Amino acid sequence: METKPGLSTRCVHDGELEDARGAAHTPIYNSTTFRFPSTAALLEVVEGRRKGALYTRYGQNPTIESLEAKLASLEGAEAALAFCSGMAAEAALFFAHGRRGIVVLGDAYGGTLDLVGRQLPELGLQTHLLLGSEVDRLEGLLRGGVGLLFLETPTNPTLEIFDIRDLAALAHRQGALLAVDNTFATPVNQQPLSLGADLVVHSATKYLGGHSDVTAGTLMGPKVLLDPVNQWRKSLGQMLAPETAALLLRSLRTLVVRVQRQNASAAALAQALRGHPRVRRVFYPGLPESPGHELARRQMSGFGGMLTIELEASFEQTALVVDRLRLFTIAPSLGGPESLVTLPVATSHHGMPAAERRRRGISDSMLRLSIGLEDPEDLIADLRQALAAAP
Ligand code: PLP
Repeated sequence: METKPGLSTRCVHDGELEDARGAAHTPIYNSTTFRFPSTAALLEVVEGRRKGALYTRYGQNPTIESLEAKLASLEGAEAALAFCSGMAAEAALFFAHGRRGIVVLGDAYGGTLDLVGRQLPELGLQTHLLLGSEVDRLEGLLRGGVGLLFLETPTNPTLEIFDIRDLAALAHRQGALLAVDNTFATPVNQQPLSLGADLVVHSATKYLGGHSDVTAGTLMGPKVLLDPVNQWRKSLGQMLAPETAALLLRSLRTLVVRVQRQNASAAALAQALRGHPRVRRVFYPGLPESPGHELARRQMSGFGGMLTIELEASFEQTALVVDRLRLFTIAPSLGGPESLVTLPVATSHHGMPAAERRRRGISDSMLRLSIGLEDPEDLIADLRQALAAAP
């Protein structure tokens, strides 16, 4: 019996194009359009009777199709759509599948909360934002006909873990779909489709790109759910450039080694920081005292490269610690080779009323760390010197 190759093997080989000249890696087809020997041959492709390159904005481009085949394979999906950003993927998903209403559960990315909480209601869509602590309201909303449940797990920045299997079953009992933003976890650490989710979305700008040089997004799932999303992608013109698709293809070949190293380094930092006298709390699902630890152990195969620490400090003292860091770069985003640090209160949750931040468990002395590919000992030493110098 043939066994399915492992994830590293699929990252390297799946989706790669066999081109006529024997290129070892999928070449960049930067052509915007593709020619045909006759109208009959063009019609075969236009009418879907033959697969073929046609027009790049439609995604019918060999480099983009190669990327989509690799992306689909990584999440164990029937198909994948590539987009010019994670938000583009989310917007097309919500337009296609959010018309019966959308519930976002948990603290999602700020751009998602803005789109779902403010902009989609302006178009007449019914949307609901629930925190993890309000999960008891979820079943009622789904029973009332809301058609799409969307969540991140782990969440940003407190790394709360949601039970994908349970929530998928709950959504399905009420005839709703579950879409999971798997950006933080990556397919290396979590495979939501195998746990019952219907669709997976990524900001490929983060770990999938992995080098802080690609802005892209993707949605993976069964063709029957992706087809209506593809219509929106086409009409809204959300396609990524073939050059970007090729960069992402290159990056995906090393996804597993990068993420496994980031997992190990984040775990080492979490361990090193948990007893530090200036650190009130370390948020990391890999720590046994973390509230989501048991669930994370069951549904994840690694705990990820993101961690958040809360200091025994005021906002001003916390900002001083951040400013004293030498190896960590102060920048939003995550998943690149360089370690990044942000204060949620100054970035993702900036502008949110203080009471709402408190309700979400976001404090003024929290640092969110995206652990890169540096030596973990150097990162630990950097944090220790910054914490020691703080007043
Ligand atoms: N989802 C998550 C979890 C994110 O962190 C981000 C961006 O930070 C997005 C989606 C949006 O992705 P993009 O910036 O590629 O549009």
